[in-house]
Amino acid sequence: DIPAIDTDVIIIGAGPVGLFAVFELGLLDLKCHLIDILDRPGGQCAELYPEKPIYDIPALPICTGQELTDRLIEQAKPFSPEFHFSQMAEKLEKMDDGRWRLTSDTGTVLQAPVVVIAAGGGSFVPKKPPIKGIEDFEGTSVHYAVRKMEQFRDKNILIAGGGDSALDWTVNLQPLARQMALVHRRDEFRAAPDSVNKMRDLVAAGGMTLHIAQVAALHGENGQLEAVTLKNKEQGEFQVACDTLLAFYGLTMKLGPVAEFGLNLHENLIPVDTEKFETSQPGIFAIGDINHYPGKLKLILSGFHEAALMAQQAFRIIHPDQKLRFQYTTSSSSLQKKLGVS
Ligand code: FAD
Repeated sequence: DIPAIDTDVIIIGAGPVGLFAVFELGLLDLKCHLIDILDRPGGQCAELYPEKPIYDIPALPICTGQELTDRLIEQAKPFSPEFHFSQMAEKLEKMDDGRWRLTSDTGTVLQAPVVVIAAGGGSFVPKKPPIKGIEDFEGTSVHYAVRKMEQFRDKNILIAGGGDSALDWTVNLQPLARQMALVHRRDEFRAAPDSVNKMRDLVAAGGMTLHIAQVAALHGENGQLEAVTLKNKEQGEFQVACDTLLAFYGLTMKLGPVAEFGLNLHENLIPVDTEKFETSQPGIFAIGDINHYPGKLKLILSGFHEAALMAQQAFRIIHPDQKLRFQYTTSSSSLQKKLGVS
């Protein structure tokens, strides 16, 4: 059993709003652990539009989804947030001492007096390739994410897809794999040019194979993959031997386990008050795209405001005996000390 981790605040979701919450809570000396099913921070900004410009972040006339994420990470850095990536926040229970215990699907246990749900449009879940019988191999030899690279050491891997995840994992797993192949339907990739170049260099050096084709069928027994049929116009159908298929066909968002947390819901959103952004359960807050209140706008800037107000109430819950003093970062030497700027 992994020992439970005690902290001040558990944040579900490391999207822009969860990341800014780290900053606002940090100014009040509250320490955060964040959990996200994605393998990196940034939520929708990093996953859905890393290279698209955003024009309505106050005082940043133009910045991309990835740049906003990088800046939020930098801003939160003085408060040393701890991230638990590639994990689904699965179960939330009230403990006898009034705190909350959150358990992830990989067994991480976080305990805190305050939980902040910054789960956006829900958790990202992989789109499954439309291949007959694929369920029989899922979890054994077909995977939609890489949780632990070691799991793939010495495997004969076929990666399917043409985006960043497919290319990143092709390049990162190639040194571990016994054999590596990538299959994509076109000889064009929607991924960072650097990863595409690295992949092409590996192909040129004989370190891996690239197939321009579609996956048509899977072959194997008892969940153990032995080969895959690929097809394209030039070659028709042909078989490629492999024991592992990693399919990266993009992600969609689903509310997921948050729906089972016992909170009131309004059309899959979590109703909150607009003073503290607290849910129907004291000590559980919802900020960003996941919450609902009259006049709500699903904008990043709304989530930032909600994070600031949430933090005030989180402090009162965690330190009921302490007085909260309102301070400006510009003029407060104690805030500047926390930020490491004085
Ligand atoms: P998200 O960014 O959705 O992040 C939530 C995170 O929580 C995700 O990473 C998810 O994996 C994780 N999560 C959820 N449930 C769980 C769970 N149970 N366990 C683990 N992890 C979980 N907004 C603007 O203000 N300006 C714009 O110009 C703009 N342009 C956009 C363009 C596009 C194409 C899209 C799709 C959105 C745009 N938005 C824009 C909206 C903006 O991206 C969202 O408002 C913002 O991302 C919400 O941030 P968030 O942190 O609340 O949630």
